Amino acid sequence: MTNSLKIRVLESNAERIVLDVEGATPAFLNSIRRAAIAEVPTLAVDEVIFYNNDSVMWDEVLAHRLALIPLKVEPLEGYDALRDCYEHGNDCAALFVLDEEAVERVKTVYSGHLRFEGFEGLVEGPARINVEPVSKKIPIVKLARGQRLRLTAIAKMGVGREHAKWQPTSAVAYRFAAQIKILKEPDSETAAKIAEVCPRKVFAVEKGKLVVKNLEACNTCRECQDRYPEYVSVTWDSSKARFTLESVGALPAWKILLTAVDVLEEKASRFVDAVEAAIRGEEGGEPQN
Ligand code: SF4
Repeated sequence: MTNSLKIRVLESNAERIVLDVEGATPAFLNSIRRAAIAEVPTLAVDEVIFYNNDSVMWDEVLAHRLALIPLKVEPLEGYDALRDCYEHGNDCAALFVLDEEAVERVKTVYSGHLRFEGFEGLVEGPARINVEPVSKKIPIVKLARGQRLRLTAIAKMGVGREHAKWQPTSAVAYRFAAQIKILKEPDSETAAKIAEVCPRKVFAVEKGKLVVKNLEACNTCRECQDRYPEYVSVTWDSSKARFTLESVGALPAWKILLTAVDVLEEKASRFVDAVEAAIRGEEGGEPQN
């Protein structure tokens, strides 16, 4: 990373954060990307106790479906308390019950039928922490008339590197800023063809001349260069990147990003402690992942 780091926020909301980052190395951005995917703890169903399952679906399959329902914690201070609890090695389990029966006709059981009952193991935190599925409309199973599903689901904190159900992100990616050179001025007919070949409408033809009109839209697919190598060259600048992070809804996108950086900082600090201990001739700190 260079000394001057410039960041421009292009979009920031609960679902998505998009940044233009200048001055960070690809390795640094990739560390943040990987930490966001695999190291930011979230809640997911980890154990299910079935009391009745008359549905056509096996317990294991239902348990797997329940585990993949993203859960959100409100308020956000509640999430911080859970993370703290998790990082101290506790289970901090959130308990849900589900009891649905198809009395008269076929009934679809949805994520919204999960009822949050409270926590086990969370000693401190905001007085009222609520946990609920990100969407109430995720289908779990269909029950035929007379069938009943009754269970307790136990959600625990975990990280994506243990299981994908704990991943807070649906997409995290960065791409470098494109650099386009017009090597030779094409005639107006060829200019129109080059502009046409670009799926992102990066080029325009103005007064018969090919111009780069919308460089930011270029995804460096190089279709223009492959088709017209004598006219166009496409490269990229790896010190300028567009960083995009999308959340599954369990946490706001900005919170995932900041927590990922926090996790990296903690790892770096543990590494420093271990190195210092090793220099002093003591046994090293915790092993680094
Ligand atoms: S590299 Fe792809 S997106 Fe970029 S200008 Fe060429 S065709 Fe368009």
